[in-house]
Amino acid sequence: MQQFNCPFCGTRDQSEFTYGREVAPVPALDASPADWQRFVYERDNPCGAHAEWWHHNHGCRQWLEIVRDTLTHEVLEIKAARRSKERA
Ligand SMILES: [Zn+2]
Repeated sequence: MQQFNCPFCGTRDQSEFTYGREVAPVPALDASPADWQRFVYERDNPCGAHAEWWHHNHGCRQWLEIVRDTLTHEVLEIKAARRSKERA
């Protein structure tokens, strides 16, 4: 079983986490229906490094941004997904 090193809880089994989606900018509330369709339904399917949002639902309940290699399942980076005040 794969393990993720949560920045808040430490190393935990993947079964504690739920996949959210690939990391992508959220469209503005007044964005076109085509932009929202792209965000909600369409996914890239990269071969290699892929940034994904995961929820640590059986731990700290934080959303995490995990960069994972889709070929090897190697976890390349894990960080909190929340925005810092500088980016807001
Ligand atoms: Zn956690």
